[in-house]
Amino acid sequence: MSHLDSVSSPKTPDFSALKSWIPPERLITDPGEVSVYECDGLPLHKKSPIAVVLCKSEEEVVQTVKWCDREGLPFVPRGAGTGLSGGATPITAGVIIDLNRMNRIKHIDAENRFAIVEPGVINNHLSDATRPQGLEYAPDPSSQRACTIGGNVAENSGGPHCLKYGVTTDHVLGLRVVLPDGQIVQMGGPEIDQPGYDLTGLFVGTEGTFGIVTEVTVNLIPPPPSVRTYLAIFDSLGLACRMVSQITRSGILPAALEIMDQNTIRAVEASVFRAGYPEDAAAVLLIETHGIDDSLADEEARIIEFAQECHAIEFRTANDEKERMDLWKGRKGAFGAMGRVNTDLYVLDGVVPRTQLESVLNRVGEIAEKHQVTVSNVFHAGDGNLHPNISYDGRDPEESHRVLEAGKEILQLCVDSGGTISGEHGIGLEKSEFLPMVFSDEHIDTMIELRLAVDPQERSNPQKIFPDNRVSKDGGRQKLNKVPQ
Ligand SMILES: Cc1cc2nc3c(=O)[nH]c(=O)nc-3n(C[C@H](O)[C@H](O)[C@H](O)COP(=O)(O)OP(=O)(O)OC[C@H]3O[C@@H](n4cnc5c(N)ncnc54)[C@H](O)[C@@H]3O)c2cc1C
Repeated sequence: MSHLDSVSSPKTPDFSALKSWIPPERLITDPGEVSVYECDGLPLHKKSPIAVVLCKSEEEVVQTVKWCDREGLPFVPRGAGTGLSGGATPITAGVIIDLNRMNRIKHIDAENRFAIVEPGVINNHLSDATRPQGLEYAPDPSSQRACTIGGNVAENSGGPHCLKYGVTTDHVLGLRVVLPDGQIVQMGGPEIDQPGYDLTGLFVGTEGTFGIVTEVTVNLIPPPPSVRTYLAIFDSLGLACRMVSQITRSGILPAALEIMDQNTIRAVEASVFRAGYPEDAAAVLLIETHGIDDSLADEEARIIEFAQECHAIEFRTANDEKERMDLWKGRKGAFGAMGRVNTDLYVLDGVVPRTQLESVLNRVGEIAEKHQVTVSNVFHAGDGNLHPNISYDGRDPEESHRVLEAGKEILQLCVDSGGTISGEHGIGLEKSEFLPMVFSDEHIDTMIELRLAVDPQERSNPQKIFPDNRVSKDGGRQKLNKVPQ
């Protein structure tokens, strides 16, 4: 039984107050139509919401949150629904508050290098808007053509270039938030080094459990003066991993170090994201360096040496922007390409020390064999952030069960290897039961106390992050995950 089955349905809500101000086309209650929102990018958990409210302004968010409070209903904030840990998946009797339509870039201050945006702005629309002024928004999840800045904030998202530039939290300067009781608060702002508690830092990564972000102030950076992109090709996945360790140990800090294994290469090459990767290779390592030409030339010489030492069978250099985009096309489209392998995809997200990449990936292969599941690996190797992707047919309950067993074993392996259970996709519903793998009871209790201090009624995205019905050390049942009345 999943979290989602464990809560019984409450009374039918009174929609009349909502209907008095929200236009009918932005309130969805029809059971067929709300089912479109039954999951995010993790198809293992599904549940229809009782209603979806498509908000266009902060005022509408406040009104909806207050209505939920009056009706005793939980709500789930939702951006583009590309999350991979079930964060935006509805819960029983839950109302989806959809932020997609709050998609205005409100202000760009090029001189002071910041922008103020609504949460529904799509990640790469922001850089498209700031590039003419010589600035970019650095965090670049592979889903950046669809995911929203609000979702990125909630998940503290990373991306291929976060190796050099840092993840979302390093680029968020301030937030405006509607708290679970409808109060609006401003945290941080464009000025760097705010006095007092870093509430912005605290909020980033809370996965929608602290309320709804309605405005984000982000840091902008100038694009690098020069960029070089390479593809090292290997007949062994282990050797590709060794080259990653060599590069990082040398002190070179590439902008990106991304590995794709043979299953991924083959899926990519059979798809519209075809990038010319050799299909008989065991692995490819995509390397990108950013900086001034002189230092890049020096780094290039050393990177070629490492490729030779690690017995790369081929080493390609992108000679112009088109060749560079072609090399990235396959990597950016890799998850999409896996849609060809089977009907469903479970994207795992674990972290291991970089030096453990080779041995952990060997064990991942053994786990896949044991559970008879197909795993393709495409990952942010420079961060040790693995994404073993399990392709499966979700209509087959027995296969789905094997997928879950394999996933759990892989995440336990990451922890046992000195790593952790999420690098960037969050805990959500997917890994809430695995939290004790990495945190003690005391740690979890402290996080729960913090969550209840912000949201004592558990209105905002309940049943996410924390284990269900956890019994604390003293035997008392935790206050979390109450049945909404
Ligand atoms: C093909 C593919 C590639 C991906 N690559 C990456 C990657 O490289 N790096 C990475 O980190 N992730 C990646 N992801 C995962 C996903 O895109 C990110 O987690 C992203 O930040 C989710 O944004 P979203 O707008 O889709 O949020 P949603 O999925 O809608 O929501 C995600 C979470 O944020 C909460 N939320 C959304 N908006 C708000 C808001 N305004 N206020 C408060 N809470 C909110 C939701 O309740 C939920 O808990 C990938 C996903 C896919 C499908």
